[in-house]
Amino acid sequence: MADKFFSERNLKFLLYEVLNTQHLTKFETFANHSRQMFDMVIDACAKLAGDLLWPCFEEMDKNPPELKDGRVHVHPSVKKIMKEAGDGGWIGLRFPEEHNGEQLPAVIGSACEFIFSAANYSASVYAHLTAGAAHLIISFGSRELIGTYVPNMLAGKWQGTMALTEPQAGSSLSDITTTAIPQNDGTYKIKGQKIFISAGDHTGADNVIHLMLAKIEGAPPGVKGISLFVVPRLRITDSGQLVGNDITVTQIYHKLGYRGAPITELSIGEKDDCIGFLVGEPHQGLRYMFRMMNEARINVGIGAAGIASAAYYAALEYAKARPQGRKITSKDPALPQVPIIEHADVKRMLLFQRAVVEGSMSLLLQSALYADLDNAGEGEGRERASLLLEILTPVAKTYPSEMGVLSTSQSIQCFGGYGYCEDFPAEQYYRDVRIHPIHEGTTGIQGMDLLGRKIMMKNGQAFKLYLDEIRQTIVQAKKLPDTAAYPEILENALRTLEKVTQHLISVAQSKGPEAYLADATLYLEMFGIITVAWQWLKQAAAALKGLQNKKSKKDIHFYEGKLFTFKYFFEYELPKIEGPAKRLMSEAHLTVEMQAEHFND
Ligand SMILES: Cc1cc2nc3c(=O)[nH]c(=O)nc-3n(C[C@H](O)[C@H](O)[C@H](O)COP(=O)(O)OP(=O)(O)OC[C@H]3O[C@@H](n4cnc5c(N)ncnc54)[C@H](O)[C@@H]3O)c2cc1C
Repeated sequence: MADKFFSERNLKFLLYEVLNTQHLTKFETFANHSRQMFDMVIDACAKLAGDLLWPCFEEMDKNPPELKDGRVHVHPSVKKIMKEAGDGGWIGLRFPEEHNGEQLPAVIGSACEFIFSAANYSASVYAHLTAGAAHLIISFGSRELIGTYVPNMLAGKWQGTMALTEPQAGSSLSDITTTAIPQNDGTYKIKGQKIFISAGDHTGADNVIHLMLAKIEGAPPGVKGISLFVVPRLRITDSGQLVGNDITVTQIYHKLGYRGAPITELSIGEKDDCIGFLVGEPHQGLRYMFRMMNEARINVGIGAAGIASAAYYAALEYAKARPQGRKITSKDPALPQVPIIEHADVKRMLLFQRAVVEGSMSLLLQSALYADLDNAGEGEGRERASLLLEILTPVAKTYPSEMGVLSTSQSIQCFGGYGYCEDFPAEQYYRDVRIHPIHEGTTGIQGMDLLGRKIMMKNGQAFKLYLDEIRQTIVQAKKLPDTAAYPEILENALRTLEKVTQHLISVAQSKGPEAYLADATLYLEMFGIITVAWQWLKQAAAALKGLQNKKSKKDIHFYEGKLFTFKYFFEYELPKIEGPAKRLMSEAHLTVEMQAEHFND
């Protein structure tokens, strides 16, 4: 195990020197907090992650959940972690005080989620899922539902889940068939099957509360007919006892990575005795879920960035310690070997990982900050933040997830042969991170969300604000010494993005939606690189400011390291938009024209 899984110095640089998170305390919602309070929370989080989650990182992977006698048995640490997450207020970190939450900004909550994910992604998801499910109940549920379920969920006693997916309805949720039959007492009988449900049952919690999508009998077809229900594993009788609610775990899936957390197949209402409770209004289920989607998708990005961070620090530590070969300039075999970090190609691999991890985190915290301004702000500023959050969400989900896979792969590469073996953790990080481009909407679905919905929304208003936000950074950066031509390079990239977007809109008009969206994933790839370049320009401006103030040697190395990574991103990563841009401007639509039968033989 490496000594470090994330950099507290970097996290605080992003929070306070780049994003000025401390200014959030001027809003009434966060007025009870201060920068000191934020720091205390982050320090306590780092300690808990280091003491409780990090030590069982490998052990949870090697001892995955087992289905025995109808129950999912998980690693004993899960119970301890859930208890700590409840007792320490971690599940309710972002919840309003009226629900016994800490009412902290999303940006601080996201920083904590990043730390927990970096320490042990599998162990972190139990509490994250519970927070997401409880948030849905307090946002849309009745007082009775809130009173019955939320306190035990926030206390870490009851697990929460998101139960959407069915065998025929993964990306296409309009096709779900789980049904809800109204009963005279206002409850519903639920019947159906769900698959891949994370933490759908386990021995680390006393009960499991599913936030489940189902269709009320006779509901309109498609997405308009979907409703949201609370469906507990154990329901409460009139006398206050907990009894089985006719939900059976029919299998757990054996997965590539992220093995410390179970994903379950659930059979619901086989004996016609599963009771569900409607959340909010009938037929509004998908709308409610989508209101929470921004949060859930940003959390996926955070999980990926956390895993990539831990993989980067493992590679960095190894690169400093592993002697191999000599500098090209001094090949004398009598000389001792040098640590591999001395080789330019190894530095390139480390820079790539650092650029991905710190660029992703900057984007994720920026998105969380917009969520805070949307939540606590007022008027025009609030509307602006809301639209920026909308357009950035598919990017904040996808860039860290897709690049996290490449980044952990480069971590393995730094280890050479050892990276491929279980002796070092790099191979586990690589396996663990692979889920992120898949769950909470695949990369393909995110691409279509960006190009098909977000670019067009409100007459292109979100896209205009996005361009404006980046151009404001460019204007500021041009005033700084030492950023050289980099702001102009980003301006050119923005012009390319505008040109490509205009071209695609003309394709939509002349050739229809299929040709328009055929390469939406490539558009998202290009958009992601430009967005992270923007975040690196912001970081460079903050680092230059940091250098101007007299600092310790350690600080100077930190800021100079930031500037090297910023330049790396502009010199090595930003040019990667040229391939997708060229492709997106092309008139050929191969993937639309080619038919399934052309793949035969
Ligand atoms: C480890 C893990 C944890 C999970 N946790 C949960 C959970 O807690 N709750 C839950 O409800 N679900 C969960 N899921 C399910 C997950 O959200 C789905 O697997 C995901 O949404 C994709 O659905 P699918 O597997 O049915 O793939 P499909 O929808 O069949 O997609 C297969 C491929 O086809 C592409 N595709 C599909 N439709 C289109 C289209 N219209 N246009 C272009 N391309 C398309 C996709 O991008 C993908 O590449 C989990 C899955 C895993 C593996």
